[in-house]
Amino acid sequence: MLDINKRIELINTLLEQDTEQSLTYAALECRLTLEYLCYERFKLYFSYLSQNDLENWQPKHIIKQISDQINDDVSKEFSISVSAEKINGRTPKAKEEFESIEYTSLGTQSELKLNRLHSLWHGLSGVALHIPVPSISSGNINIYGEKERIRKKVVDVISFLSGIKGNLLMGGSFGEDYSFNCYACSTKIKRPVESLLDTTVLSCINPKCKESYVIKKDKNDDFEVIRSIIKFSCPGCNQDLEVPLRYFQDLLFDQTLNIRCGKCDMLSEVVMRPLMKSTEASVPSR
Ligand SMILES: [Zn+2]
Ligand SMILES: [Zn+2]
Repeated sequence: MLDINKRIELINTLLEQDTEQSLTYAALECRLTLEYLCYERFKLYFSYLSQNDLENWQPKHIIKQISDQINDDVSKEFSISVSAEKINGRTPKAKEEFESIEYTSLGTQSELKLNRLHSLWHGLSGVALHIPVPSISSGNINIYGEKERIRKKVVDVISFLSGIKGNLLMGGSFGEDYSFNCYACSTKIKRPVESLLDTTVLSCINPKCKESYVIKKDKNDDFEVIRSIIKFSCPGCNQDLEVPLRYFQDLLFDQTLNIRCGKCDMLSEVVMRPLMKSTEASVPSR
């Protein structure tokens, strides 16, 4: 877990140096710290979310996606306590019964205010980490941004970081998980049952694996896992050739995918090209 006080100390030292360079460097350190805070939480959910399924790489959006699809505790504040008291398989029934048990505190996860974090993260790059594209009216090009604007943003980040007091991070989910093993690489793939929709599309979490799946929920809340593949017939022996769909997602126009048949060793090529289909023109009724 990131030592936030150490980060603040480093950023403050750069602020005190008070040069254009040291302030720019302070802005960079701020931005990296904000990214780290998000990514260290994302890391705890690796077993639930494939990098391939990330909708947006920006730190805030990754945490938002975990919150929407896996567990919204990821950005919330909460404390965890455990009890050493044996309850012998009995579950306390009422709130009072829970509260009557003696607990030892494990720690607190701090809230991560995502909108504020995102606006600071964005603001830092605006004031310090890019040279604005010049225009006819912008005058000289400067390597560094305006000192006072950078300082203000860095001070805002320090105040944001100072508010994060947690000493614990928790990943995963308390509820029941639905899991299965990847067809190709046997890696366990899982999602909290309550997060699964009628149809959920997900990829294998192994970064070297190209498999992806559709999980379908039926009326009885049973799940069916369907491998996302495209089938071809081998021209040599008619064997079914199954190619994971994700191989095609990376193909560009006119690019070729080579497929070798495991049975007769024949090499086939699949070329990525537009396919035109037409439907019968509908005749307007009179
Ligand atoms: Zn896999
Ligand atoms: Zn074949």
